[in-house]
Amino acid sequence: MNEAEDYAYIELNDIWKIYKNEDDVIHALSRINCSFKECSFNIIVGPSGCGKSTLIRILGLIETPSLGNVMINCENTSDLPQKIRNSIIRDEIGMVFQSSNLIQTLNAIENLTLPMLSSDNEKAKDLLNKVGFNDYNKYPNEMSIQEEQRVCIARAMVNNHSIILLDEPTGALHSKESFEIMELLLELNRSEGLTIILTTNNKKLSQFDCNMFEMIDGTILNRTEHTS
Ligand code: ADP
Repeated sequence: MNEAEDYAYIELNDIWKIYKNEDDVIHALSRINCSFKECSFNIIVGPSGCGKSTLIRILGLIETPSLGNVMINCENTSDLPQKIRNSIIRDEIGMVFQSSNLIQTLNAIENLTLPMLSSDNEKAKDLLNKVGFNDYNKYPNEMSIQEEQRVCIARAMVNNHSIILLDEPTGALHSKESFEIMELLLELNRSEGLTIILTTNNKKLSQFDCNMFEMIDGTILNRTEHTS
């Protein structure tokens, strides 16, 4: 393996996340060490409550770990002022969640142009085409759940983000629709060179060409690296 192939684009070093409620201490994540290569396709799989969403929020820099470092492109994000972290979020990271958070009063094009640094309808159409959605003027309440997820994936790419994090993107979909979304994400990973990390509790998604991280009780139990 040469140096370029070995390069860890995103690295989690000794990550712990501990939530303290009045009587309870919850170890949502315990000593997580893992890395994700540039342009790789990664699935984090595990049962509900094992810490997947917490891990995605920490990777997306929208939540800070109790202990440990998140390295992005060799930079330790924990040491950076919030302003710089915000610019990494804005420039590098697109996020998609299980339930679409599209703005209901905006159509598909407008949902994409809103977060753009400078509004560009043609770019919005191009991205919507890339995710297989061409009803540009449809509003979210006229879309199927799968269509909403496609628009959310397009929106996650509007500022040329190189990292797309998806928390249970297929959680509300039938298996056929889930597989279609997975095929789309694989295609975007290959054609756009995106680094994709997604969570799921559906082990059947492990049949896709990906690096697989299996979580249980806040830890990574197993990892399988995609080799070809
Ligand atoms: P998953 O995404 O795998 O379902 P989560 O990351 O949502 O798991 O949750 C992991 C554990 O952390 C669960 O026990 C959950 O109740 C707890 N947890 C998550 N977020 C919070 C929070 N903000 N406050 C307290 N406990 C939390």
